[in-house]
Amino acid sequence: MMEPLQEPLFQNLFNHLAEPHVVVKADSPRFTVVACNKQYKAVSNTLNKDIIGMGIKEISDLKNANYEGDSIIEKALNKAIETRQVVKLAAVRYDIPSADGLQMQQSWWQTEYIPVLGQNGKAEYLLCTIHNITEQVTSKKNRERAEQQEKALRKEQLLNEELAETIKKLEESQQNLAKLNNELEDRVASRTKALSDSEARFRNMIEQSPVAMLVNKGDDLIFEIVNQPMLKLIGKGDAIKGKPLYEAIPELKGQPVVDKLYHTYQTGEEWTGYEQLVLMDREGKSYQGYYNVTYKPLIENGQITGVLEVAVDVTEQVQARQKILESETMFRAIFEQSPLAFCVLKGRDLVTELANDNILKLWGKTRQEVIGKPQTVARPEVQGLPWLKLINQVYTTGVTHKNPEFKILMQQDGKPEEGYFNAVYQPLKDAEGQTSAILVILEDVTDKVKAQQQVDQAQQQFRQAVDSANMGTWSINPASYQLTFCNRSKEIFGFSLKEDVSNRWAMNAVDPAYRQMVRKAIAAGIEKHEACDLEYPIINHISHERKWVRVTGKMFFDENNRPALFSGLLMDITTRKLDDIRKNDFIAIVSHELKTPLTTLKAYAQMLTVKSKKAEDVFTVVALEKVNSQVKKMTGLINSFLNVSRLEAGKIHLDKVNFSLDELVKERINEFALTIKSHIISLSPCGPLTVFADYEKIGQVINNLLTNAIKYSPAGKRIEVSCQSEEGMARISVKDEGMGIKAHDISKLFERFYRVEGRHTQNISGFGIGLYLCAEIIQRHNGKIGVESEIGKGSNFWFTLPLS
Ligand code: ADP
Repeated sequence: MMEPLQEPLFQNLFNHLAEPHVVVKADSPRFTVVACNKQYKAVSNTLNKDIIGMGIKEISDLKNANYEGDSIIEKALNKAIETRQVVKLAAVRYDIPSADGLQMQQSWWQTEYIPVLGQNGKAEYLLCTIHNITEQVTSKKNRERAEQQEKALRKEQLLNEELAETIKKLEESQQNLAKLNNELEDRVASRTKALSDSEARFRNMIEQSPVAMLVNKGDDLIFEIVNQPMLKLIGKGDAIKGKPLYEAIPELKGQPVVDKLYHTYQTGEEWTGYEQLVLMDREGKSYQGYYNVTYKPLIENGQITGVLEVAVDVTEQVQARQKILESETMFRAIFEQSPLAFCVLKGRDLVTELANDNILKLWGKTRQEVIGKPQTVARPEVQGLPWLKLINQVYTTGVTHKNPEFKILMQQDGKPEEGYFNAVYQPLKDAEGQTSAILVILEDVTDKVKAQQQVDQAQQQFRQAVDSANMGTWSINPASYQLTFCNRSKEIFGFSLKEDVSNRWAMNAVDPAYRQMVRKAIAAGIEKHEACDLEYPIINHISHERKWVRVTGKMFFDENNRPALFSGLLMDITTRKLDDIRKNDFIAIVSHELKTPLTTLKAYAQMLTVKSKKAEDVFTVVALEKVNSQVKKMTGLINSFLNVSRLEAGKIHLDKVNFSLDELVKERINEFALTIKSHIISLSPCGPLTVFADYEKIGQVINNLLTNAIKYSPAGKRIEVSCQSEEGMARISVKDEGMGIKAHDISKLFERFYRVEGRHTQNISGFGIGLYLCAEIIQRHNGKIGVESEIGKGSNFWFTLPLS
């Protein structure tokens, strides 16, 4: 059966109703929709949705869309069913989905529910008329809200006015406060400034102070302010600023001066200490200083906050005083222990204030007898003595007086004895510079004076001896080269006795050929302290006579071992020299004259030897050999004499060449070995020794030494020859195992015609010219010659030559 509500007529009528209408079944609580007109669909935003058959609450998809509305509508529907009367509801809020169905839209409705009764008289359907009053409600609400807003606004305005008033008052009070604050701040600032000014002034004052000052603050005594003089005084740098005392200067721990600092900090008691010893490290070394120190507590707001320290360095003064003390002690020690004799005589009366043991001994008095008493009372014997006068003079003039080597009669074991003293009388002055006492110092020089007297005496005797031997003396000051001649020397040279001799005069008087030699000897004497013994001719200044002089000299040294005087003797040896010259001339002539017959003799002997050998006349051959050897010996002898006379006349000529000295030595040894069978000659080998010398003459020297070694040692003994190089010199030595030479002969061996006199030598022939010639030859080659010998054991003759 077709539902009447579905019928087209009803549908048309229903859709044409101006008001939105819905018909629902009275199937509470579902209330199934059975019809709805277009208006309803329009206002309920369900145009595109078929809501027929849906429960009233299902119209909205959104769950619990408006529960309150639902329940009111439900109640109203049920009421209409129950009462079968129309139920009209006041405005109800029932939110519906928005047109897009996505959200809910606040909606207000005016509804009417008319029950449609069935045959049984019961409500079968319910016709719901729905007026959408959302707009009215909303506009009303708006108005109300506007009213409320206006009210609120008015209220707010009222409130605002009150607030403005309050704010104004607040602002005023704030201004007042700000003013007050500013005033306060100004006051605080000026107060702070005043405070910081005063602190700055305080700091400034300390920092600028020439006196060493510092401020330690707090329990750790932090270095708050330290000025430069203080830094200098404690020998530290700026680094200590801001550091606690013990961190900055740990070495101060435990020192009394720091204990006092803590004491002041803790008790507030001011403290001053003089010459306080403080030990501090300076550049890694412990330094000991003395300081006058003052500690003053720093009080802020009634509290001790630190200590102000002022210090003055008095190290120098303290040390100076210590030194004075030391020197006083030293002076006393010197005074008491000195080998000198001292006394201090005070005042015009010369009251003995101090006297050491030495002077008491000299005076022969005890301390009690002299101390505190005037000299004339304690020692009446001094009355009228010259020294009393001298001391008075020193007192008056204030000038020190020295009295060298002055003689006094001392009391020695009760006997007066002569003594010599160097005396010094020294005025001691008071603060005003006035002499208040005299220091008497006596140095005992008795021994020295007596020794000098002996020397003087010896010198006098020597002078007498020199005078009687007709010898002169001379000396040269090694510092100034000033020459001094005694009168005898002046006479020999023919100089005026009244005038000093000038070096030039003396040198001009020397034969020009000898000047070089004289100069050399003087230079060697002064510079190398070599002794000299020269013989040379001079021309007498007055008589122009040629004279020969012998000059000996050596260096004399002072007590400090410094060269004092190069001096010696000067002898006129003209007579002896002329004799020698005559003798030489004679020897030269004789030697020369002997040479020609000897050469002839030699030639004939050789011829005869040849003849005798042919005739086999053995006796004659042997006899002629002997003649030959004697002729050879004689030739050698004559040659030596000729050499001596040439040498004396300065005519010896050196023919120098470079040659090997070791070869020469070997050659000579070999030659000797051929003829000498009595001795064993050995040579210890050496390297090449080249010398620039006269080959013949050096050969002669070697021959001479070998001949002597054979001559003066018994047959069968060894002769050792050695050669070596030594400091640029070639050294040849010939050592024998012969009789040896006495020490006193050694110095004279190289003199002309010197022969050792004795039992051993009397049977050995010779003239004493061999070694003389050797020495002359070696010296002319700038070499040296010498001998070491021991009697009974043998001699070792040697010579040296410069290596070329
Ligand atoms: P001579 O041998 O002709 O006497 P010398 O001048 O050669 O002259 O020697 C001088 C003196 O030196 C000798 O008389 C001798 O007494 C001594 N004499 C020289 N050589 C030796 C020596 N090897 N041993 C000991 N005495 C010597």
